[in-house]
Amino acid sequence: MPELPEAEVVARQIRNHLLGAQLNECLVGRADIVREGLSTLPWYQGALLDDVERYGKSVALGFRKAGELRYVVAELGMTGLLLFHATQTRHPQHVHVRMVFTGGRESELRYWNPRRFGRMSLFDRAGLDAYRARRFGVDPLTVPREEFIGLLQARRGRLKPLLMHQQVIAGIGNIYANEILFRARLHPNREVTKLRESTIAVLYDTMQLVLQEAIVCGGSSVKDFFAPDGTVGQYKSRHLVYGKEGQLCPNRCGRVIRRLQSERSSFFCPVCQTNRLSG
Ligand SMILES: [Zn+2]
Repeated sequence: MPELPEAEVVARQIRNHLLGAQLNECLVGRADIVREGLSTLPWYQGALLDDVERYGKSVALGFRKAGELRYVVAELGMTGLLLFHATQTRHPQHVHVRMVFTGGRESELRYWNPRRFGRMSLFDRAGLDAYRARRFGVDPLTVPREEFIGLLQARRGRLKPLLMHQQVIAGIGNIYANEILFRARLHPNREVTKLRESTIAVLYDTMQLVLQEAIVCGGSSVKDFFAPDGTVGQYKSRHLVYGKEGQLCPNRCGRVIRRLQSERSSFFCPVCQTNRLSG
């Protein structure tokens, strides 16, 4: 948390409020928050915000100055937030970067993250491309169905860890993996090599549906996520299994949601999501 839908909500808000604005100051509170490119920080002064993109659970701000493009990439995975000036956090000491703008609908964008080390990077275009190639697999919202099917068919192992493997499919974390698998009626530990093509197609459709619906709802506010303008995401109220251990299955099958202790918590219904060998 945040995962893809939350990062997408963040990127859209920044785009709506700050695209075309000029960055007058970028104040980095602690040098160790910047993983790469700190020496290029002075370049950004006076640059215009030209582009805002989401990659996986990260948000990339593209700046233009004198015909050149450079980027600031903020990782949101687990605990990061990007906040406008008026949005307060309970722990303001974790605001590590402040970007002051003129000419936009907001005057400031702050990067908040209680985990301190290396969560922001400054890149030129080649650096950004290399970072993307290294860090992010296909995007679940834009990957074509055939490519997704081929991708899964080329893999082996358990299904849920694969859905969350950022270098294969970028942006899905524990919350959305659980919600997608329940709706697709797939056990988290299903062996990927045993999935039929038609089953992977159902998984693909379900993945897109869940993520799109979550974006429309402003994401899920779990563990203090909120959007740059302070809006709380509403998708949590639509969670069917995440955090619902011991509650009756929403499919009315009569069983309760169980929790598997694997590398991350998996919530599933033992009737609706059987761990059969193939299908
Ligand atoms: Zn059930």
